[in-house]
Amino acid sequence: MPGQRKTLQDLFKENLKDIYYAERKILVALPKMAKAVNSDELRAAFEKHVAETEGQIERLQQVFSLLDEPAKGKTCPAILGLVEEGEEVMEDFEDSPALDAGLLGGAQAVEHYEIARYGTLVAWAHELGMSEAAELLQQTLDEEKATDQALTRLAEAAINDSGTRQAAE
Ligand code: FE
Ligand code: FE
Ligand code: FE
Repeated sequence: MPGQRKTLQDLFKENLKDIYYAERKILVALPKMAKAVNSDELRAAFEKHVAETEGQIERLQQVFSLLDEPAKGKTCPAILGLVEEGEEVMEDFEDSPALDAGLLGGAQAVEHYEIARYGTLVAWAHELGMSEAAELLQQTLDEEKATDQALTRLAEAAINDSGTRQAAE
């Protein structure tokens, strides 16, 4: 017989480890993306989110301690793939005017992954009666959503800019 049947609590812990691993990868990747972009506004948005990511990692450590678990990551293949795609954009579009658009899109893919994970974790924390953990995770979910929206606004502004430029040509 395989070991004890796993519970929602086990699943919650596994996903906590997944996002903890992912956040720490993001903390390394995001400053590189900030360095690579041409737009000062996009760089500022990335840098702001680096600082937020540090706080998000601390929140996850708090959630682990609420569970009496050591803060430990577990390889997240999704974030490795998303980071790799970002690196590909940086290489292949290094001298391209589309570099910023590529990295902005890549960053949004990361935010969407995080929104999916944190949304689920918040729901499970409620389900498990862990209201303090739910509140911490909700704070991060709100930051990820705000970041995604800020990136959308930058993307739209950039598209409007290029439209104006084309109209003036
Ligand atoms: Fe995050
Ligand atoms: Fe994952
Ligand atoms: Fe994020």
